[in-house]
Amino acid sequence: MLSDETGKPLASWSGRDRIGDRILDSFTVILKTGGCAWSRCRMCSYRHERFTGLSAQDLSSRLIEQLSYIRSHADLRKPELVKIYTSGSFFDPGEVPHEVRSAAAALFRGKMIIAETRPEYVDAGVLEDFSSQIDDGTWEQPLSVAIGVETSNDAIREKSIQKGFSWAQFLHAVHEARRAGAGVKGYLLMKPPFLTEKEAVQDMQRSIADLSPQTHLISLNPCSVQRQTELERLWKQGEYRPPYLWSILAVIRASPVHLTVDPLGGGSRRGPHNCGTCDAEILKAIRDYSLSGDRTLIEEISRKECACKPEWDFVMEQEKPFCMPQTR
Ligand code: SF4
Ligand SMILES: [Zn+2]
Repeated sequence: MLSDETGKPLASWSGRDRIGDRILDSFTVILKTGGCAWSRCRMCSYRHERFTGLSAQDLSSRLIEQLSYIRSHADLRKPELVKIYTSGSFFDPGEVPHEVRSAAAALFRGKMIIAETRPEYVDAGVLEDFSSQIDDGTWEQPLSVAIGVETSNDAIREKSIQKGFSWAQFLHAVHEARRAGAGVKGYLLMKPPFLTEKEAVQDMQRSIADLSPQTHLISLNPCSVQRQTELERLWKQGEYRPPYLWSILAVIRASPVHLTVDPLGGGSRRGPHNCGTCDAEILKAIRDYSLSGDRTLIEEISRKECACKPEWDFVMEQEKPFCMPQTR
């Protein structure tokens, strides 16, 4: 369900997720919060979804209302896993006040929880406190933090994404999470602006190799063009194309570890896409692989022929790097 009504979360839905070798029933919620304190990434429109000008107390009340809505409208008996997104950082106290975190812990106690946050808010003490509130002994590791590290390359994270933190800061967050006994899910962003198709594929291959020793889960997010973003402006000027689905297949095939991949907007001009003819079949194979972990689906679909495959080969070989000056 999607909502812009006060008192309801921005969105929530039930689904299934692969965690390690298990497939768990999951519940995902996107809370409307005080908003991302950074709010400057070039491709992000989620940061516009926020309450502005509220006192800390009013912000708390608005968030508690959303949790109450979930309590009365969602069936929380079935899901074993709860994923909490905030379009920012669940562990930023300015965005999600402490008492709201405690209320969320009480609501979701006994579930495995994955909560989204930037690395600067990953503090062992804060995580331990939250983890102890959700832990009823069901899970060996009840809490994981989801961090959009995007790439292991600091130059790409800074120039192409403007993410505002370094790989070293991410590693510090991993250290803090481990001290708290929490897991880390790393999100990678495939093909931010200013990269050629080939550079984007190579960036993901390098990043997966760097990230896999640090995190127990990796989610590969192919970049899509969201509204009211700098990326949208570049795209409208013909200076950006989302990744080919062939590129995503190449990254999955070469990955030594499982990747969770849900190509949002897949098949549309704003999302990762091929020619339009082969997209649906490839997207289905990617999504099925993401849940089942069955690599043969990826191998088989990669052998598929389509008129756009030679085009992709040509782009991979011939596209030249973006030549705008990147500094002033
Ligand atoms: S991508 Fe995340 S960190 Fe960047 S502006 Fe959006 S919500 Fe904030
Ligand atoms: Zn095609």
